[in-house]
Amino acid sequence: MKVFKFGGASVNSADAVRNMAQIVQTHMESAPLVVVVSAMGKTTNLLEKLVPGIACDDKTNLRQQLNDYHRSIASTLMPDNMDVQQKIDALLKSLDNLCASLPADIDHYNYNYDQVVSHGELLSTTIIAEYLNSLGIKTLWQDARQLIKTDAHHREGRVDWQATQQAIMQLKQPNNQAIKQSQVILTQGFIGGTDGGTTTLGREGSDYSAAIIAYCLNAESITIWKDVPGFLNADPKFFADTVKISQIPYNEAIELAYYGASVIHPKTVKPIQNMGIPLYIRSFITPEAEGSSIGNYRTIEPTTPLYIFRNNQILLSILPRDYSFIAEDNLQVIFGILNELGIRVNLMQNSALSFSICVDNNPQLVPTLIEKLNNMFRVRYNENLQLITIRYYNQQVIDHIVAGRPILLEQRSRTTEQLIVPA
Ligand code: ASP
Ligand code: MG
Repeated sequence: MKVFKFGGASVNSADAVRNMAQIVQTHMESAPLVVVVSAMGKTTNLLEKLVPGIACDDKTNLRQQLNDYHRSIASTLMPDNMDVQQKIDALLKSLDNLCASLPADIDHYNYNYDQVVSHGELLSTTIIAEYLNSLGIKTLWQDARQLIKTDAHHREGRVDWQATQQAIMQLKQPNNQAIKQSQVILTQGFIGGTDGGTTTLGREGSDYSAAIIAYCLNAESITIWKDVPGFLNADPKFFADTVKISQIPYNEAIELAYYGASVIHPKTVKPIQNMGIPLYIRSFITPEAEGSSIGNYRTIEPTTPLYIFRNNQILLSILPRDYSFIAEDNLQVIFGILNELGIRVNLMQNSALSFSICVDNNPQLVPTLIEKLNNMFRVRYNENLQLITIRYYNQQVIDHIVAGRPILLEQRSRTTEQLIVPA
């Protein structure tokens, strides 16, 4: 079996859904194709504002937009289909009931988030399943909450691999008539289930969903359809002359995702690497083109400098108040605080008297971090910084990227250069 994943941009309008259906149709074979789909367009961002407890004076308007957007895509694709409109109604009603009844306090925020925001994927897959069926593609809608089982860590559910494997294996049962008769098994990305309700896997988690399913099915391959021609050596939003990387070893992909390459979700590669499943990144705009593949390769091809930018960084220098050396006991305290707040360190460096860390300047978390550190340490910081990672660097590309800016911190290994500069 093969797994396809379509993100929000690939299904953000009626035309986009038609194009997606065309791609699915071109790739159908005897075994059902497993298709994982995200919420349409920017629906997840909209739903985040509707979560109870979130202050937003525009909720009525946003709720209306959500309604109009999905209804109009459905009615453009299937003008005479009343069933799909009823299904959309039912989902929107369930959303309203939740928004009205969930306790709006901060202690329930993560739980509420998952119950509300998951409606984006439920809406998109409901519409797309109806549409594929209307084209004569026998499509079976599956509820990802019954397939991907997680713990109750809401907003970042951790997969219960055993339960998930058991649930997903049902898709392979030869005596399951519904599956046998279908050409496409369609399910939601990003969402999962725990005993107490719906969970989500973290923003942009649909790639990860596809990888989990591919792993449990021991799929032949997984293809992520995107609005870029493949894995590029830099984000085309920030870089004019990008080069497509045609082949990427698994470990290289993990490194790149770790440094912040946005084309692939950081958790996606591990499960498929374990099973040796190739992952293809292809363009839904030029679906005939070859794209990139991540797999069991020895080298990256072509070898060219790869650039990853993280913006809105803050560099903190942490110094013991008593002017003692920064040693293991101090580091333990610092990492304890970081861990407690769930803050990821993007770069760190130690010297005799201070420890420096570069983190995303999250306005909710960083002030609390500084406050907690201040109990034991003096903290100095620099804001509005950019963290640049260059794999396969040379001096010329470094100079070009730095463009004369002062370098606040620099780290270099044989393959990777990292620099912090003012944005
Ligand atoms: N819809 C979710 C998000 O926008 C998941 C995804 O797109 O991967 O974060
Ligand atoms: Mg998305």
